[in-house]
Amino acid sequence: MREDREIRRKRKRRRKLINSIILLVLVICMGAFIVVKAVNSEEKLNPEVSQTAKNKTDKKKSDKKNEEVQKDDPNSLVKGSNHLKKADKYAYDAKTISQFIRPTKSDGYVKNTDTKKICFLTFDDGPNHKITPQILDILKEEKVPATFFEVGKHITPEVKDILERQLNEGHAIALHSYEHDYTKLYPGRVADASQVKKEAEMTQKNLQDVLGKDFKSSVWRYPGGHMSWKELKPADDALESLGVHWIDWNSLVGDAEPKSRRPTTVQGMVDFANESLTYQSEQDIVVVLCHDAPGKQLTVDSLSAIIKNFKDKGYEFGILK
Ligand SMILES: [Zn+2]
Repeated sequence: MREDREIRRKRKRRRKLINSIILLVLVICMGAFIVVKAVNSEEKLNPEVSQTAKNKTDKKKSDKKNEEVQKDDPNSLVKGSNHLKKADKYAYDAKTISQFIRPTKSDGYVKNTDTKKICFLTFDDGPNHKITPQILDILKEEKVPATFFEVGKHITPEVKDILERQLNEGHAIALHSYEHDYTKLYPGRVADASQVKKEAEMTQKNLQDVLGKDFKSSVWRYPGGHMSWKELKPADDALESLGVHWIDWNSLVGDAEPKSRRPTTVQGMVDFANESLTYQSEQDIVVVLCHDAPGKQLTVDSLSAIIKNFKDKGYEFGILK
């Protein structure tokens, strides 16, 4: 009897234990079910929660893609330069070209050994809405690039359209002092190095304010020309310290000459350009001085003929960087 009771008690305990285990498993399963359900309903209620995470990943992917596109975009600026990527194939270093067109060896002349004929059309004293857009129209029509030497005080948000057009249409932008005032740049005809440096920096800044921080021009032309003033070495060195190189010209259309010898016809301007080049030792590289200041309508009217003149002589066209 006692043994029977003992066996029954043991069975009862075992059943109790089994029941407890089953109950525990059930509780765990229910718990897990509730948690999964809750997460699902959270997503249903707030689809943006999971969507935001997805969007973040997508955005990262698309940003990366945009960056890559921008890197290859021919219409983006060559970082730290004065022209777009699509213009880079015909952009030449101003420092090198400048040495080819010096009149004498004592001036740092270097002989050009390349036989390729390249013409650099350059326009000083702009930009403005009267003449510059007309020059751009003709260059576009003739499919020829040029370099524009801008005066810093003319660079304002009002000419943003012109500057952007110059870049977008494959041209280059260069520096031509801030004030274009001979008495400030060259008091007593002697170059003031600190003034030259200051005006180069101010012009660069105005251009960057309009075109962005990636823009930088390394090309400078002295108003009146390097050839016209005295003791320029300190000013040249000051420009070099900014990574900027000066360049003159070896041909000019004569549109800023004194009235007594300034051409008054289209053919007169073409002849002036050809005649002035004959006095130079370098003939295959020609840097042509023109102006796009207000009032230079004859330059506009002559431009097609000037371009044709150099095309017929077998010149390609380049820009200065
Ligand atoms: Zn000038």
